[in-house]
Amino acid sequence: MRARRTKYIFVTGGVVSSLGKGLASASIGALLENRGLEITHLKLDPYINVDPGTMSPIQHGEVFVTDDGAETDLDLGHYERFTHAPLSHANNYTSGRIYDAVIQKERRGEYLGNTVQVIPHITDEIKAAIRGTAADFDVCITEVGGTVGDIESLPFLEAIRQMRYDVGPENVCYIHVTLLPYIPTAGELKTKPTQHSVMKLREIGIQPDMLICRTDREIEQSMRDKIALFCSVPPGSVFTSRDVPTIYELPLVFKEEGIDEKIAEILNIWSRAPQMERWAQMVEKIKSPRNGTVRVAVVGKYVSLIESYKSLNEALVHAGIANDCHVEPVFIDSGVLETGDAQSILGDVDAILVPGGFGVRGTEGKIAAVRYARESGIPFFGICLGLQMAIVEFARNVLGLNGAGSVELDEKTPHPVVTLMDAQKGVSDKGGTMRLGAYPCTLSVGSKAAALYGITQISERHRHRFEVNNDYREKLAEKRMVFSGVNSDLDLVEIIELPDHPHFIACQFHPEFKSKPLSPHPLFAGFIQAALERRQQKSL
Ligand code: GLN
Repeated sequence: MRARRTKYIFVTGGVVSSLGKGLASASIGALLENRGLEITHLKLDPYINVDPGTMSPIQHGEVFVTDDGAETDLDLGHYERFTHAPLSHANNYTSGRIYDAVIQKERRGEYLGNTVQVIPHITDEIKAAIRGTAADFDVCITEVGGTVGDIESLPFLEAIRQMRYDVGPENVCYIHVTLLPYIPTAGELKTKPTQHSVMKLREIGIQPDMLICRTDREIEQSMRDKIALFCSVPPGSVFTSRDVPTIYELPLVFKEEGIDEKIAEILNIWSRAPQMERWAQMVEKIKSPRNGTVRVAVVGKYVSLIESYKSLNEALVHAGIANDCHVEPVFIDSGVLETGDAQSILGDVDAILVPGGFGVRGTEGKIAAVRYARESGIPFFGICLGLQMAIVEFARNVLGLNGAGSVELDEKTPHPVVTLMDAQKGVSDKGGTMRLGAYPCTLSVGSKAAALYGITQISERHRHRFEVNNDYREKLAEKRMVFSGVNSDLDLVEIIELPDHPHFIACQFHPEFKSKPLSPHPLFAGFIQAALERRQQKSL
């Protein structure tokens, strides 16, 4: 087989953060993949944490989990939803992880007495990571987190600058994503911040090949020409990325702008035009659904920050695509259910979802939401902590086990229906090790879960410590709780359902990580279908 000539695309950001570099990278990935190229993605994050696993979702947003159990930046979720790139530990490096590797090598004496420095040791480690990740692909799209000008991202920028010399200029394309702010008093879009940010990049030796400018409106050719001139990029290499009603429209906008065409030209890639017909049909469905809107209460702790439930929100969008409807998430802080009346808070939604979470705060409110869903017949979907709260609720209110609870929340609970299983016991007194990444699960024939998946052997991703306590399974089953998904190797409960309820399913894993717009997750699709049915019944 011919050795691959891997092409490298580096995406940097300027002016402000949250410009959608991740979505821009994912959109480029989608277009190149649809040209028939094998692509991969890499995210370089400048912070010192070795991975985002320990960071609060309020600060950092969701922790995205890959099949191999890596806890990664949420941009990896975008990459997976937009492309087929198989992602793992290899696709997200932080400064902390790079430094950690260098320091460990230093301790082992691998630098042979040399002074260990940012250049070349840290930069070499970064380049080795990039090359390692890119090796088996036609194109590797590397996104550098943070904003140009930050002290923190300098080693990454220096490393990607050097890459051009290491692998040859014909194999490297630098794309800089910036902002053109609209100043209402002047009545115009301003190019100065973009000019300054490109200046900053050039100061450290990177001349962008292309600019993608975020705007909220169309810009004229004359403005593109002006930006090109001031930023020293060829005319025809300044693109805009205007605000779109759905993120899934972005690859189509990029195609229309000719971004993939320009990349192919710069990198001298011969490939077919991207085939985006299915994608375009999917976007059409999001924009004009035929079955109206369903409202889903999402009862959680981090509801104030949409970013912390990124994949969950996207999975709901996908489930809307599957049912040709719009899904409106109604975020409810579980705290309010602790004192408030469930009927008045949840009475007018079409379905209730209790997502994953950590810690005690708000859990009684989640239990109240589960109870309301169970008793009133509203479709219910529990995820991870959501399943655990469903178990606690059922144990308390159906089995009548007073004080039933989870040992995570109360170590002295008289009925630890959710607990640490032996395999999980270990490192810390309160925690133990997390069950992370993909685990197999067997579905029982005839269950709702099996009907939704259409198969009985599945694999889903986990991120939790606690499990349903097997000692209580028999009692729960006697009251018609069905354990429709189990991990038979570890003897763990993975899915529960209540057959006497119109739709009551909860899972211990996080199905949202595997949902894609072109393949909505069956558990989400089934949940939204049930919500739609309930809404239709209500209006009869
Ligand atoms: N806190 C729970 C556990 O560790 C649930 C975690 C989650 O919802 N991801 O098991």
